[in-house]
Amino acid sequence: MELPRTAPCVVVGGGIAGVALAAHLARLGMEGVVLLERESGLGEGATSRSAGGIRQQFADPDLVRAARATAALLATFAEETGVDPEFRAHGYLLVATEEARAVRLRAEAAAQRAAGLEVDHLDAGGVARRFPCLSVGDVAGANFCPTDGYLSPHGLVEGYRALARRHGAVVVLSREAVSLEVRGGRLRGVRTAAGVVEAPMAAVAAGADAGPLLAAAGVRVPLRPTMRRLWFTRPLPGLPRDLPLVLDLDRPFYFRPESGGALLSLAEVEEGGSAEPPSPGDGSLPDRLAERALNRCPLLGDARILRAWWGHRTLTPDDRPVLGESPEVPGLWLAVGFGGHGITHGPSLCLALAEEMALGAPRLLPLDPYRPGRPSLAAAPPPPGVI
Ligand SMILES: Cc1cc2nc3c(=O)[nH]c(=O)nc-3n(C[C@H](O)[C@H](O)[C@H](O)COP(=O)(O)OP(=O)(O)OC[C@H]3O[C@@H](n4cnc5c(N)ncnc54)[C@H](O)[C@@H]3O)c2cc1C
Repeated sequence: MELPRTAPCVVVGGGIAGVALAAHLARLGMEGVVLLERESGLGEGATSRSAGGIRQQFADPDLVRAARATAALLATFAEETGVDPEFRAHGYLLVATEEARAVRLRAEAAAQRAAGLEVDHLDAGGVARRFPCLSVGDVAGANFCPTDGYLSPHGLVEGYRALARRHGAVVVLSREAVSLEVRGGRLRGVRTAAGVVEAPMAAVAAGADAGPLLAAAGVRVPLRPTMRRLWFTRPLPGLPRDLPLVLDLDRPFYFRPESGGALLSLAEVEEGGSAEPPSPGDGSLPDRLAERALNRCPLLGDARILRAWWGHRTLTPDDRPVLGESPEVPGLWLAVGFGGHGITHGPSLCLALAEEMALGAPRLLPLDPYRPGRPSLAAAPPPPGVI
């Protein structure tokens, strides 16, 4: 696709945030939005490397609200976009093995239920009765939300791509934004190796690489790209396919069924990134992963690794994404810092952001908790809910 010379808005980055934003801007009537992606396909960053989990259980009520809004959008996604993202509402089971964590989970379940989310707090016996294939000897308590689940991130991206194209957005692949054009104190366009797209608005949704692009335009956002690994196993015939995503919070580990096998992760925060993908090696699970997997689900004792990969989780100090117009550069919008939950929060929050950009105000959700200038971004406590 040839690069347009002008556009009403350029969206930089074709992961879930960028493609959802471009689709919603186009659908809301912004004609000729340009979506720039440096890779040869959409979703090749963190998005396609994710576990595709849609989790509505968070300690932060704003994140619960955003996740619930995405769950609601998924109900009509296939009809609206023509692509089924294969959402399976098999739930999320959050497991505590320490008493203090179980007490917190119980309080969170009560608050989430009061806000309208269906969440049960279970003791070890309750977990064993619902999910007999799990070992519960060390379980102090667990929360289960049956309307959580998981989907195909590829389906989600493809649906938004189709919606964007149908409403006249221009998707330009293999084209990197090398800089943001700022003149007279405001955004004027986006520069690529093939020339500048002049635009009064640009939105940066460049995931882990957003920081340097923004900083070069004078906009500093405290983004911390961290790394997360996933392992995908060969088929495990005995593993029930309708299990929830099971997340151990105290000895971090999660797994969920996938294509007859399972996706597994140590659910740990590792700094930076690595040029090397983790190797499936001889198919054995790494020791720590094997130990945690076996501890929670004996059926995973037969797991053999087929593929392994890693991706970025771009964290912020208060563990919320950063959304809205930059106070430093009018016309420059941010959709960054989705951390470990961009598949869950990206669809709804990028719709609200598109509403603000196209219509002047967000309608689906308030964006105040996510503003670039909020004090909690500067305060920099360690992110609380990064698991
Ligand atoms: C292993 C793993 C598991 C995860 N599991 C889940 C999960 O179960 N549920 C959940 O909700 N979230 C999960 N996440 C988090 C989720 O994947 C991310 O929050 C989300 O994908 C971020 O989307 P994004 O669009 O911001 O970034 P990305 O998907 O990384 O997209 C950014 C895009 O910008 C492009 N780009 C960068 N710079 C430029 C430039 N200068 N010009 C043009 N293009 C550029 C990149 O090529 C990339 O395609 C997981 C993440 C990882 C790593």
